[in-house]
Amino acid sequence: MSKGLLIVLSGPSGVGKGTVCSALRPRIPNLVYSVSATTRKPRMGEVDGVNYFFKEREEFLSMIENDELLEYAEYVGNFYGTPRDFVEETIASGKDIILEIEVQGALKVKEKFPDGVFIFLTPPSLDELKDRIVGRGTENQATIDHRMSVAVDELELIRHYDYAVVNDEINLACKRIESIIIAEHCKVMK
Ligand code: 5GP
Repeated sequence: MSKGLLIVLSGPSGVGKGTVCSALRPRIPNLVYSVSATTRKPRMGEVDGVNYFFKEREEFLSMIENDELLEYAEYVGNFYGTPRDFVEETIASGKDIILEIEVQGALKVKEKFPDGVFIFLTPPSLDELKDRIVGRGTENQATIDHRMSVAVDELELIRHYDYAVVNDEINLACKRIESIIIAEHCKVMK
């Protein structure tokens, strides 16, 4: 049995990674989603074990210590990381898994899984990105400014990715990602 694909969907905060992943769920029903651990406090409506595994800082540090994370990154004052076992078991079982993570973490995954499929989701413009972060209404001004300055740095790292997908319209972005996954399954192994 062949292994599943490890797909990393990355890009700046506010670009719509979460929205794109939600829209992909009904379109690609057999795609598995990695649930990250974070020390960030839950936002309204977020559920532990569904959106994230919400952890205290000490719990997160012990996950790092015990090598339970495939990658982790500190992002705007909080830790975020991908539980390793779930990803490795899913791929080994032949299913595709998608990780929705920020750029530093994506580059660490690339070191360990160079055969992964690395997709960078870009905003149509930086102004549009700011409008989306502000419009979400979940961050204060200082956090918005911090996320925007991180986004500018993150956009520079696009060259490390296999694909760039513009999130101009959700259905189009999903179609592009679906096409990438189909093409990756058709690839001739060398
Ligand atoms: P948010 O606080 O908006 O949910 O997420 C902040 C950023 O952390 C987003 O860019 C999100 O994709 C990223 N992120 C979520 N989970 C992980 C993870 O497990 N590892 C890394 N490196 N980044 C993550």
